[in-house]
Amino acid sequence: MDIKTALETYRSIQKKLNAYGFATTAVYYDSVTAAPEGGEKERNDAMEILSNITYEIETSPEMLEAVQYLVLHKDELDAETKREIELYNKQSEYMKCIPQEEYVAYGVLVNEATSAWRRAKNNNDFAAFAPYLQKIFDTNKKFSLYYKPDKDPYDTLLDGYEKGLTKEKCDEFFSELRETIVPLVKKIVKTKQIDNSFMFRNYPIHIQHEFSDYIMEKMAIDKKYCAIGETEHPFTLNFNKHDVRITTHYYENDFASSMYSVVHEGGHALYELGSGDKYEGTGLSGGASMAMHETISRYYENIIGRSKTFISLIFPKVKELFHEQFSGVTEEDFYRAANYSEPSLIRTEADELTYTLHIMIRYEIECGMISGEYKAEDLPRVWAEKYRHYLGVEVPDDARGVLQDSHWSGGSVGYFPSYALGSAYGAQIFETMKKELDIDAAIRDTGDLSKINEWLEEHIFRHGAMYDSCDLLRMCTGEEFNAKYYTEYLKNKYSAIYGLE
Ligand code: ZN
Repeated sequence: MDIKTALETYRSIQKKLNAYGFATTAVYYDSVTAAPEGGEKERNDAMEILSNITYEIETSPEMLEAVQYLVLHKDELDAETKREIELYNKQSEYMKCIPQEEYVAYGVLVNEATSAWRRAKNNNDFAAFAPYLQKIFDTNKKFSLYYKPDKDPYDTLLDGYEKGLTKEKCDEFFSELRETIVPLVKKIVKTKQIDNSFMFRNYPIHIQHEFSDYIMEKMAIDKKYCAIGETEHPFTLNFNKHDVRITTHYYENDFASSMYSVVHEGGHALYELGSGDKYEGTGLSGGASMAMHETISRYYENIIGRSKTFISLIFPKVKELFHEQFSGVTEEDFYRAANYSEPSLIRTEADELTYTLHIMIRYEIECGMISGEYKAEDLPRVWAEKYRHYLGVEVPDDARGVLQDSHWSGGSVGYFPSYALGSAYGAQIFETMKKELDIDAAIRDTGDLSKINEWLEEHIFRHGAMYDSCDLLRMCTGEEFNAKYYTEYLKNKYSAIYGLE
């Protein structure tokens, strides 16, 4: 073999994998948007076959031989190819540790668990979902130990979403956040609350549809390459950089819910759409990590989307579309209502300040599930206790408690800390952006977020997965990650909004 042949083999197999990835993603997207529930079994059968084939291609002797050759000759490769091969090799080292039948069985489990979760949530029946949940945690733990027998399996899971992240680092990070957030939340609870009642008037869904289109336009998202759909739980899927799907959920009596889902998922979409052209179809397309993805989505959602300037930008259109619902509401009222903070039950509806406490609870539960301290059947009780302890709210039922998120049913264990870390990365990036760009003027001048997008494209998006997110953050901001930017940002913002000392 020589480098040219090895690379050709690698590229041609990668093309095939992209095609199977495309098909799997399409089946998944269909299953959560349009497919009838009755077709579940046949759909799962098809997914099982696709998953089997993917595994066989990924671990085929041809592919492994080519990758092995390239790993041995990595110093003869250009920096990008070298990085790509290293990432692929890491993934295939992991895959090689898992017996094929177990890998395929896990794919089937996740599909079944997703359907079981949806039914359990609709029927508020945690007991029906508990066995799936236990199996998902057990399998994640088992696979992590196959891969790194000497390492804490939860550290391995965290590292899978954010390189280098460990329980120790999470503990330190969350305790720093707790020190700032808990006292702030306590002060706000005692202060005169903002009136946000107008956000819960009747907002006809067909007009909310129109408003979503408008929000995408103001975010300067090119709809030629990004479509919007509706699902129970909003998410973003990327087929490739020319085909990204975002989804939202409309509630007739909650205006902000869908609006901020669109802004959040739109942020994910902008990241995917802005990934460097040269990386398209390679292992370096898309984002640097889950945490960096959440950095961007939460940056758009909170730092930009809940800023005075953005509120001012969209206010005239809001008044036009929702004339009656917004009658008597000023721009300042809208800004304050968009930043209303109150401990609540649902993570995705939580305000920017209390959000991290929701994440911390999930983090603690994941730790306990992996260590064996908790069993799935304990989770409704543990969930309720932690919500009472950290947020001071009573959980009325499991649908609004432990069943609210789709992550665990989808097999994502170790993902949640990415949201909190992402928010903190975002605050650090914001400080740098402010030095280089007059953000308010940039939004006012263009009437959309295109200048913000351009800055982020230059500093973050275009790099795809070329760098680990901690390196990318350093390249972008000139310093190591520091959670103080986030705690300061929260302190300043909420003290001003609520008039705290
Ligand atoms: Zn997200």
